[in-house]
Amino acid sequence: MKRLGLIGEHLGHSLSPQIHSLLLKYLGIEGSYELLEVAPNKLQDLVESLPGRYAGVNVTIPYKVAAMKFLAEIAPEALSIGAVNTISCRQGLLCGANTDYFGFGRMLEHNDIVLKGQRVTVLGTGGAARAVLQYVQDSGASELTIISRHPQEAAQSLEQFAREAQVRFMDYHQIEQQASGDVLVNATPIGMYPKVEAAPVTQASVKNYRAVVDLIYNPAQTLLLRYAQEAGLKTCNGLYMLVAQAVAAEEIWLEQKLDNQIIATVAEELARTL
Ligand code: NAP
Repeated sequence: MKRLGLIGEHLGHSLSPQIHSLLLKYLGIEGSYELLEVAPNKLQDLVESLPGRYAGVNVTIPYKVAAMKFLAEIAPEALSIGAVNTISCRQGLLCGANTDYFGFGRMLEHNDIVLKGQRVTVLGTGGAARAVLQYVQDSGASELTIISRHPQEAAQSLEQFAREAQVRFMDYHQIEQQASGDVLVNATPIGMYPKVEAAPVTQASVKNYRAVVDLIYNPAQTLLLRYAQEAGLKTCNGLYMLVAQAVAAEEIWLEQKLDNQIIATVAEELARTL
């Protein structure tokens, strides 16, 4: 019996229980995935009480950074990103990882979007954007443009990226004036349900790219992705990434590699319920 869970402050709308229940069902593993809502002043007690009770947990807003200081080990990608979304309890030791990073990568692979040698623009500088930026950098992109409403503050908070010569920071006015590239990634919540009539950039800007990736999964086609599709670009939404990051977490907890086919199977089933 695998006891798993999700730590966060407000978890009512999380899709994670549904995804992990489907994964456990398809894998034929008996287990549970519990919602562990906790107040900030009780986070340490909860994290430290996990060994012996849980095989592992996910961590979500607002604890992805705060939980790190209670862990014995942190995987390299999570250290660089500065956030964990997965904790495993191995022989009494708490280990942290960031599976958004791997989920993003598997989504790109699934859609044949290659970043090596490409010019990439990322919209947003939050938690999801940090995982994306690290992946883009590790993939050997030739140029990385980070778009923020506050580019100067962003350059400070994303200091590890700002040091690299091929990285530049811009605001939304500048992207409309001068940005172009190969792959555009939306890591902001703009266009997410229920505010589906909004897009982070104009249709004219979108046409300066070859592929557009939106991390949003509800709706399946955001206005941004509609702009891109109308311009004949390659597009992909965030549903595959959402399931892929959950599969990567299961792989850590189960200590085994899972077939990628399970990602597509669960994503299709989930899409029918959204
Ligand atoms: P977040 O930390 O709340 O915000 C992301 C960033 O978006 C902010 O740091 C901000 O950057 C920018 N932003 C926020 N509100 C904005 C606005 N009104 N106008 C323009 N920019 C705005 O969120 P997150 O956790 O990174 O998630 C971002 C999106 O990715 C959400 O839609 C989330 O559902 C999605 N997501 C998907 C997956 C997946 O597996 N598919 C995983 C994680 C997240 P600046 O202040 O620098 O402008």
